[in-house]
Amino acid sequence: MVNTNTSQYFLYARKSTDVEDKQVRSIEDQLAVLRSLANEQGLNVVCEFVEKQSAKRPGRPVFNDMVAKIVKGEASGIICWKLDRLARNPVDAAQIEWLLQESTIQHIQTHDRSYRSADNVMLMNVEFGIANQYIRDLSANTKRGMYEKARRGEYPGLAPLGYLNDVRTKSIVIDRYKAPIIKQAFERYAGGLCSLENTAGFLFERGIMTKQIKKDESQGGKLLKRDQAKYILSNPFYCGLFRYGGELYQGKHESLISKQLFDKVQEVLKQRGKTIRKPAEGKPLAGLLRCGECGRSVTGETHIKKSGLVFTYYRCTKKRTVCSQPFIRDGELASQLSQALKKFIMPKQWADELSQMAEKDSQEADTITKAVAEDLRSQVEGIDRKLQRLKEMYLDQDIEQQDYRTDKNILVSQKKSLEEQIVRLQQTHKSWLEPYKQWLQDAEKLGEITLSPDPIPKKSAAQQIFGSNLFLKNRQLQFSPQNQWAALQAALEKSSEIPLCKILVPREGLEPSRDCSHTYLKRTCMPIPPPRH
Ligand SMILES: [Zn+2]
Repeated sequence: MVNTNTSQYFLYARKSTDVEDKQVRSIEDQLAVLRSLANEQGLNVVCEFVEKQSAKRPGRPVFNDMVAKIVKGEASGIICWKLDRLARNPVDAAQIEWLLQESTIQHIQTHDRSYRSADNVMLMNVEFGIANQYIRDLSANTKRGMYEKARRGEYPGLAPLGYLNDVRTKSIVIDRYKAPIIKQAFERYAGGLCSLENTAGFLFERGIMTKQIKKDESQGGKLLKRDQAKYILSNPFYCGLFRYGGELYQGKHESLISKQLFDKVQEVLKQRGKTIRKPAEGKPLAGLLRCGECGRSVTGETHIKKSGLVFTYYRCTKKRTVCSQPFIRDGELASQLSQALKKFIMPKQWADELSQMAEKDSQEADTITKAVAEDLRSQVEGIDRKLQRLKEMYLDQDIEQQDYRTDKNILVSQKKSLEEQIVRLQQTHKSWLEPYKQWLQDAEKLGEITLSPDPIPKKSAAQQIFGSNLFLKNRQLQFSPQNQWAALQAALEKSSEIPLCKILVPREGLEPSRDCSHTYLKRTCMPIPPPRH
């Protein structure tokens, strides 16, 4: 089939080393077949173009050169193995189609097919479409592979600081040297006593710093920036989870810290984030209190005296209202705040004993839970037996189909409820213990916070204890604690009159205010209710 309209042909062969061309014939093969094809059909090849690049994106130099020459009129035909050699992306495909429609290209000959200007463009569209889709599928498959990996609990990426990629086992393992440092950084930050800058400094002193980048050697070996420290402290990888494609997955890797410590750090990050957003440099307590007279918020102001002395005071904003409240100096407010917080410091002895009592309670609850769960499970087994019997009766035609169905539905529904009860029981019976112990720790740590000159941890502690019940009136702090802090304050006040052992006895001293959700459980003797979150 010799084409009479076309005299000059370009021969184009392409194979990339990329995965999409794995199955494609080698360039030598392509050339050999195409040359003999040209020979057989009497096509006059004026130039051969060989390209070793993927066609998934526009911008191949040899291809572009060939097209430019075609536009100049140096040839009007192309011989190539398949259309997907010319294009695997819609831009290049459209260019070829357009040139063919305009008759700039009059003929494309592949090893098994002929495409001409006058032909229906449908077929060509389909072929190019397939070539393009192939690339898209390939990329989707790679992505799917990554998601499957994530679903299996394997993090599809580089191990974060404190971990290493084990090439041999293709898994992520703990970096024995750096992991303990990262863990300490979390613990320190959770205490509320150090900032992100402090954390970066702490890491730097222990050899964790910015990486050296090849391009710019001056970038390496420096203190981590605030954002980098924050990135570490908010990476759930350390508590055994990981984020991928916006979703959280349960990882297979060993965790460095508990989920509870991680959550605590997130809370501190959030609180600090709030205080940092305030324009209040040198006015860290702004926004903490409300005016005891008009309820407006108390803001901070900095003044510079003629002598150059800077002083800060806090006052009611008096926004759109008349209020007679005076200002208070920052030192005075900070000291009143410390005094207020001191009323809630949990003595170490208490914390230890309460923690032990809670453990004991939890173990007791554990035993009861186990017994209840066992009872529920045997009920489920009973239902299974009944179902089996019912089925046999039905098969033996001892009962009608309608009756069989009604009875069966009742049993299946009962079984489902029992199974759900078992799951709920196992999920909830221990949920109070960890937050409760965390609260004991927080309350004990308050001593450290009141002694520190840093006002920010004081502010977060005050927010935790008083919530919005913190007022300033006539230069005096007025406060009332919320939930378990109120119980603690009362106990501390009583402790001067009553011996410690009495206060710590459940039901006489600090009482639990929260019910155990499950009716089978006896009320747990929780000395002080767990914190609210
Ligand atoms: Zn006011």
